[in-house]
Amino acid sequence: MNQAQFEQWLQALPRDRMSSSNLAALLPQSAEVFDDPSQVLAWLNILPVGIAIYTRDGSVAFLNQTAQQLLCAAPSAAPDAAGAAGAKQQLPAYPVYQAGMKWLYPPENLPAACALQGEVCIADDLEIRQAERCVRLEVRAVPLRDQQGEIFGCVEVFQDITLRHQTEQTLVNQNNTLRAEIAQQAEALHRCQLETQALLTAIPDLIFRVNAKGVYLEYLKTNHLIDLVQPEVNPVGLHIAQLLPPEVAQIKLRYLEQALATQQIQTYEQHFWFGDRLQHEEVRIVPCGESEALTMIRDMTGHKTAEDALRQSEARFRAAFDHSAVGSSITTTSGQILAVNRACCDLLGYSEAELRSLTFQAVSHPHDLPTDLAMVRRLVAGEQPSFQIEKRYIRKDGEIIWVLLSVSLVRDHQQSPLYLLAQMQNITRQKQAEALLIQANQELEALVNIDGLTQIANRRRFDQHLQQEWNRLLREQQFLSLILFDVDEFKRYNDCYGHQEGDDCLRQLALAAKQVVNRPADLVARYGGEEFGVILPNTDASGARAIAEKIRLGIQSLGLRHECSRVAQVITVSMGVTSQIPTARQTVEVLIVQADRALYNAKRRGRNQTVVYHDFAP
Ligand code: GH3
Ligand code: MG
Ligand code: MG
Repeated sequence: MNQAQFEQWLQALPRDRMSSSNLAALLPQSAEVFDDPSQVLAWLNILPVGIAIYTRDGSVAFLNQTAQQLLCAAPSAAPDAAGAAGAKQQLPAYPVYQAGMKWLYPPENLPAACALQGEVCIADDLEIRQAERCVRLEVRAVPLRDQQGEIFGCVEVFQDITLRHQTEQTLVNQNNTLRAEIAQQAEALHRCQLETQALLTAIPDLIFRVNAKGVYLEYLKTNHLIDLVQPEVNPVGLHIAQLLPPEVAQIKLRYLEQALATQQIQTYEQHFWFGDRLQHEEVRIVPCGESEALTMIRDMTGHKTAEDALRQSEARFRAAFDHSAVGSSITTTSGQILAVNRACCDLLGYSEAELRSLTFQAVSHPHDLPTDLAMVRRLVAGEQPSFQIEKRYIRKDGEIIWVLLSVSLVRDHQQSPLYLLAQMQNITRQKQAEALLIQANQELEALVNIDGLTQIANRRRFDQHLQQEWNRLLREQQFLSLILFDVDEFKRYNDCYGHQEGDDCLRQLALAAKQVVNRPADLVARYGGEEFGVILPNTDASGARAIAEKIRLGIQSLGLRHECSRVAQVITVSMGVTSQIPTARQTVEVLIVQADRALYNAKRRGRNQTVVYHDFAP
């Protein structure tokens, strides 16, 4: 093979990539182009790929320099640098691993072994483990045949693809990372789209996307119930002016222009009639860049109606409050006056400004405050929603007025007390009339129960009191005593001194008797004519006798002259006394009968003396 032939052969080699597969394919032909086999060996030694030639029995016949460098880490495999033509080694001559695994490459699958079996074998999963690094190999093995086609050996071409493999691996990893990131971003985008959709559905607005010219690009009809757009009309592609009434469209286009020019959200309200219903809408135009905007339309009709109702109700309350003929006030729960009406000012004699600087306690009568405050506490505690009391206020001029006060507590939507609403009705006149009536009643009562002549209790009062005490002492099982006494020879007194003197005498006797008894439940009464009764509850017979004697002697000691008496020179009385514990089988009459009999006895025995019923009766 001359120089020209060799260069020609070199020309035939692929320039882009000196792959082991190309070389392996070319090797058998190359032997023929070289005249001298040493030329072939020299040439093989300078190739940047590893080349090994095996004999039929699998021994290594030749390793070029690259092969020796690649395999030098394998101690048993390093042939001498002079060439390996004479070296006889068995396969595998160096430890070859399955790439990335812990185990050795199966010997029968090694490319050379396969080639010796007649196969052209390519593998890129072989790995040689050197001290500091692993070398990944791509190997191609081709059988060598003689002219009869018998296999006499094989040639193996291999190259270090560690870097390539690492690069590929890095690329694969990067690719995977990128894919994962893209998947994540796609997922996030999808979620974002779903969220946006959910958000848009939740917004009770009608949302359009429009361009700067006013053409609808997108239409998000959500919960908006009434809409100028007919259900069958798709607004996308239409112009605002084609869809809306001219006056509504004109305003919207103006605000759209403003929104895009200023890049600021524009908000306005629009109203129009839907049949007999006035529709209130709030429109917001939100710029999205310089050429698009979102128009968001919210139905405010319900809101407006509620607002109007509230305003009207407040106005009604204001009117009722201000013009009520009844004094009205609003105070805090601690009594600070917040507002008063004209009638309230008239009632209390203060100006509105003066009252607003006061508390209701300051104008209340001190005697009525404890009840009032207790009622307010009950309101605040939620025990009752309102209360009504009669109380007194002190006017600015010092006059005390009576008021029928009605108070209710107003709470906020969380039920916290807000303020007290009070109404005051002047009832001073009624109260005065009532006081007069009570007085008149008391007088009448007195008239009914008092004896006109002697001014002590009359027979009516006597009967009542005796019955009442009988009942009480029946329950308590205590003594009840009764004294009846009668003026001695009074007929003669009248005859002697005249009726007027007689009356005067009776008055003095009543007074004298009254002075002797002093327990609250005791009662001295005119029983009739010139007879008197003394009721002595919780008093036994001896006690009653003692009182009777005290009265008798007291009257006698008055020394009222009675010259016509056959008993003494002065007025005397006879006493009949009885005493017993009431029993259920008797009535109060029994006491009267007994006392009367005792009195009769006293008269019979000579008058001016005391007789106790049980002293003579069984
Ligand atoms: P005796 O000692 O038995 O009681 O004799 P007496 O005269 O008092 O007899 P009797 O009790 O029957 O008489 C009652 C008299 O009392 C009759 C009447 O003239 C007189 N009398 C009764 N009520 C009044 C009265 O309101 N004023 C006056 N001045 N006299 C009265
Ligand atoms: Mg009498
Ligand atoms: Mg008498």
